[in-house]
Amino acid sequence: SGISDRSPWDELPVRDELKGKSPYGAPQLDVPVQLNTNENPYPLPEPLVARIAERVAEAARTLNRYPDRDAIELRTELARYLTRTGGHPVAVENVWAANGSNEVLQQLLQTFGGPGRTAIGFEPSYSMHALIARGTGTGWISGPRSEDFTIDVAAAVAAIAENRPDVVFITSPNNPTGTAVAADTVLALYEAAQAAKPSLVVVDEAYVEFSHRDSLLPLIEGRPNLVVSRTMSKAFGAAGLRLGYLAAHPAVVDAVQLVRLPYHLSAVTQATALAALEHTDTLLGYVEQLKAERDRLVTELRGIGCEVTDSDANFVQFGKFPDTHAAWQRILDRGVLVRDNGVPGWLRVTAGTPEENDAFLDAVRELMKEQE
Ligand code: PMP
Repeated sequence: SGISDRSPWDELPVRDELKGKSPYGAPQLDVPVQLNTNENPYPLPEPLVARIAERVAEAARTLNRYPDRDAIELRTELARYLTRTGGHPVAVENVWAANGSNEVLQQLLQTFGGPGRTAIGFEPSYSMHALIARGTGTGWISGPRSEDFTIDVAAAVAAIAENRPDVVFITSPNNPTGTAVAADTVLALYEAAQAAKPSLVVVDEAYVEFSHRDSLLPLIEGRPNLVVSRTMSKAFGAAGLRLGYLAAHPAVVDAVQLVRLPYHLSAVTQATALAALEHTDTLLGYVEQLKAERDRLVTELRGIGCEVTDSDANFVQFGKFPDTHAAWQRILDRGVLVRDNGVPGWLRVTAGTPEENDAFLDAVRELMKEQE
């Protein structure tokens, strides 16, 4: 009988470029202090939970029907939020929403990337950019970053000129380093990308609400090939909701209609996101607390003797460890889960509640003593 020692993968007719590859896999471990996926540590406030229940109940009464395919009410409210906080007026036709900004990015690569095309990112950066590229058959180019994790404009412009990518990713603030990108840098890369091709420049602002710098949103004005991507997973404390969105020229919004699945945003998702947007001010209050905690983590980690990359996000990159994985494990042994993003010498910790951050700092203090 046919018991084979070959892996089933060898028999499966999966695409060649997926064979032997690993999926996205931040560990989901059940430990007391989980500071590894840049979530917001604060549960949604009870009045918002009640409002979600109300709006979802309302949506449930018409669940026999497909949801609003164009999510007009939700996009209108997202546009209002961006206009209020992003330093630039945005209208419903500038905004598109999907299930997490990962889906937004996937739709962008399905539309502007794909087989025979390439995308570039400046690494280390958000690992899903490369994975979504692979999933959509888009070639991936790993662009350079400086020693201090900022984008070296000359080197980045040269990489764009040489590779002539179809899509350019700029993550600001960058994950996992926390580094914000100056508007001048984005403009230089945009000009280089237009001269080379022209190509779509995607500014991933998943963490922008935590930044000391203003949003890069105003740069979409007069630049039809520049897209700003956002999410409700971080600042809105709603990672479980799965709601991401973009702001761009209306032509970009029209273009992604060609690849979006019909009714991709469920009525339940739209109702929940709308309820959360009603409580924006409360949620942005938590963001202020988290920014203070983020700054405290930077200061205290430096006090302990760690190297720390300046952070504009809700997480902090710290190091440098001779054995990164061993350091990660020692911190985990003390009940604190942080992230090893594969940047040699460096780990990343998400800003949690003050108590969680204290537990983390205690663990690192002990680790540093051991290393002396
Ligand atoms: N962009 C960046 C830079 C991220 O770090 C993340 C989440 N870790 C995302 C996008 C995707 O988030 P979501 O799909 O939850 O919106």
